[in-house]
Amino acid sequence: MQYSGWGRLTRVRGSSYAGTAMPQTSQTPRDNVLLSADWVLPVSSAPVRKGGVLLEGGRIVAVGPAEILRHDMPRAVYRPLQGHTLMPGLVNAHTHLELTALKDRVPPADDFVSWILRLIAEKQTMNDGAIEASVQRGLEECLASGTTCLGEIANTRHSFRILRDAGVRGVIFYEILGRPAGDLPARIEALRTTIETLRAASGERLAIGVSPHSPYTLSPELFAHLAAYLHTERLPYTIHLAESRDEMDYFRHDRGALKERLFPAVGWDPVGHRAQAGSPLAQLDGLGLLTPRLLAVHGVHLTPREIARLQQAGASLAICPRSNETLRVGRAPIMDMLRAGIPVGLGTDSLASNRSLSLWDEMRFLRQCYQDSDTLAPTQILRMATLDGARALGLAAAIGSLEAGKKADLIAVGTPASCGEDPTEALIDETGPDALALAMVAGETLIDRIGI
Ligand SMILES: [Zn+2]
Repeated sequence: MQYSGWGRLTRVRGSSYAGTAMPQTSQTPRDNVLLSADWVLPVSSAPVRKGGVLLEGGRIVAVGPAEILRHDMPRAVYRPLQGHTLMPGLVNAHTHLELTALKDRVPPADDFVSWILRLIAEKQTMNDGAIEASVQRGLEECLASGTTCLGEIANTRHSFRILRDAGVRGVIFYEILGRPAGDLPARIEALRTTIETLRAASGERLAIGVSPHSPYTLSPELFAHLAAYLHTERLPYTIHLAESRDEMDYFRHDRGALKERLFPAVGWDPVGHRAQAGSPLAQLDGLGLLTPRLLAVHGVHLTPREIARLQQAGASLAICPRSNETLRVGRAPIMDMLRAGIPVGLGTDSLASNRSLSLWDEMRFLRQCYQDSDTLAPTQILRMATLDGARALGLAAAIGSLEAGKKADLIAVGTPASCGEDPTEALIDETGPDALALAMVAGETLIDRIGI
């Protein structure tokens, strides 16, 4: 596999401390490794100044003051990372890497439907090679900024192979949309075969799910068949939900730009497709799709009552603040979501509606938006980009924080000049594109800029 465009990154896949890409099955156990840094940010507990993380066989064995760990484990291979902070790898809960090449090709439009129509037109110009290159480039950008886990939406099969071979972790959601006539059970059978093939080939770091695109881009009949399949297979699924006012208008009033402009443009009979429920969330509820396996994306126009309903169902959310800003669809009611206790992950969405795939940029934007609020603390923002993102993807038992027993999915970034008692705020404010020093997944080093 060719990796072009890494710039000055050093990609060292294969030189894992654990010895293999899949440490759990390694036949040759290696020594423990102790990484130490100016700060360790476990996220699930308080920051540790002059902290250490002890690794073994691709997992975290202990987290604490480096001196104590060194004393307790004198035979561990010691790797001090002076000038750096160790923390969990970032979790980008919502990406479309296939669209990376569309940066600057889909300018923000005056309205949501115009943007979608432009996106569809541009996407149609991409052949297999272009899509593959796009996924590759997007993945490089994610990794280079410290993202080691993705909630990725895939229209094609390219992402599966590329993400697997790169060694990153994530859930890949195979996207379904359309209003097909004809034999729906046969279509679901074909999907079942596709998903089984992908699951068999995806490796242990990638889970496979399904993404019914949104409540308005699948016919009610297709949605009903798909919902039955998702229930039977107990697959994770993600759905764009309550993103734009146009979507709300369609479900509330059965009118508006979706019905009048989008549907005719893609050849869907606007007369034959009436909105089935009073809101997009009600549509999903009617299909029995409000479950703990749902990751709803955006939720800009969710009401407090709907947020409570999602919480009650055990569903999760991913928010994409910069994408929402670009498309001028409004701002998600983040504080209501957090107060409800829903796991809220952070996503960049694609470069068709964002300027970068860096979660540091996303965190910074969120901080600027909520600067006057004393409720959205920097620690909460970082949690959304790590542990809560992992919860939203159903992966929190394995990753998202530095804790004994979890997989060694971690990054090291340059420590900001002034940190006080907690470097989180300074990290969000100051971490730039060159700050990443190290990225590991399951103890395997994917990026090493400092030669550890
Ligand atoms: Zn999206």
